[in-house]
Amino acid sequence: MTAKRCDIAVIGAGMAGISCARQLAAAGREVVIFDKSKGMGGRMATRRGDGFSFDHGAQYFTVRTAEFVAALADWQQAGWCAPWSGRVVALADDGQPRELVPEARFVGTPGMSALCRALADGLPVQHQLRLLALQRNGNGWQLAFDDGSQWQAQQVVLAIPPAQAAPLLAALPALQTRAAAVEMQPCWAAMLLSDSPLPLAFDAAFIGEGPLSWVARNNSKPARPAMESWVLHASPAWSAQHVDDDPAQVAQALCAALAGHCGGSLSPHQLSVHRWLYAQAANPLPDGFLLQDGVGVAGDWCLGQRVEDAYLSGTRLADALLAAH
Ligand SMILES: Cc1cc2nc3c(=O)[nH]c(=O)nc-3n(C[C@H](O)[C@H](O)[C@H](O)COP(=O)(O)OP(=O)(O)OC[C@H]3O[C@@H](n4cnc5c(N)ncnc54)[C@H](O)[C@@H]3O)c2cc1C
Repeated sequence: MTAKRCDIAVIGAGMAGISCARQLAAAGREVVIFDKSKGMGGRMATRRGDGFSFDHGAQYFTVRTAEFVAALADWQQAGWCAPWSGRVVALADDGQPRELVPEARFVGTPGMSALCRALADGLPVQHQLRLLALQRNGNGWQLAFDDGSQWQAQQVVLAIPPAQAAPLLAALPALQTRAAAVEMQPCWAAMLLSDSPLPLAFDAAFIGEGPLSWVARNNSKPARPAMESWVLHASPAWSAQHVDDDPAQVAQALCAALAGHCGGSLSPHQLSVHRWLYAQAANPLPDGFLLQDGVGVAGDWCLGQRVEDAYLSGTRLADALLAAH
């Protein structure tokens, strides 16, 4: 089969890959984005149903650097994201909510994934193609995908979690070793629909004890459907301990933990779970990105654990690729 050609292949349509691709395209480079899934946004994920929605991955994002402040201003003006002013507390061991130091939180509108979709607008995206292998070819790289197709690119960006990037980096052992050293923690996420508002005096809470580490009333975020919908995240330790458990049992365990905070039992209208095998890095790299011989590696885990880290990693890698060209 003849290989298709592009200037730069970006693997991963999450925040890191899309922000990298946007910056490269704005500088006149010909970019194609590839993702193994149907949708956009990776871990900035939104699940939609009839009259409800859940952000079951990233819950919101904070803004701590001048670069991200500037990006956010543009995105807000375009209507792609908005501040979330829900009451977010910490639940102490006695079950009492404690106020947190105020911090501005932002969400994609009408869901987290919508921000990535908007950012990728106009860029060519090849969906449902998983990169299986990356090999040197002439002065570029040959990419082999799971549908049997081959692409040839001058430069390649792997904007995917480290466990998925490492096996693809066999031709670049130094990068492979760096990626393989980063451990991603799993997270079980439960999504609960209720016919009536839950008796909780907050919209979201960090929880320090038990199976849950975070719960949030999704419908308290801007531009979401009104139906009472909660996202529950299990802690990294609980998720790791129960990583291979039956999803239905996980759903019941997380629902029961939330019921404990509501002072009784819960009868959700609908309850489902999603397992994030690679949710957040336990030991992120300090570099921001990795780059060797025209292959760049980006992602939140190259800098930290958050959406802002993914953005900075992607844009900084784009700058480096443009400088190296
Ligand atoms: C449960 C959970 C809660 C979180 N909460 C927050 C939060 O509240 N605030 C915050 O700032 N951050 C949060 N995060 C982290 C945030 O989601 C990430 O930092 C950010 O979305 C990472 O973006 P990324 O582009 O680096 O990676 P990803 O979003 O993981 O994107 C990688 C993409 O690569 C694709 N891919 C992988 N392998 C291949 C392959 N071989 N071929 C083709 N495509 C491939 C995947 O399908 C995916 O779309 C949370 C994450 C999770 C999972």
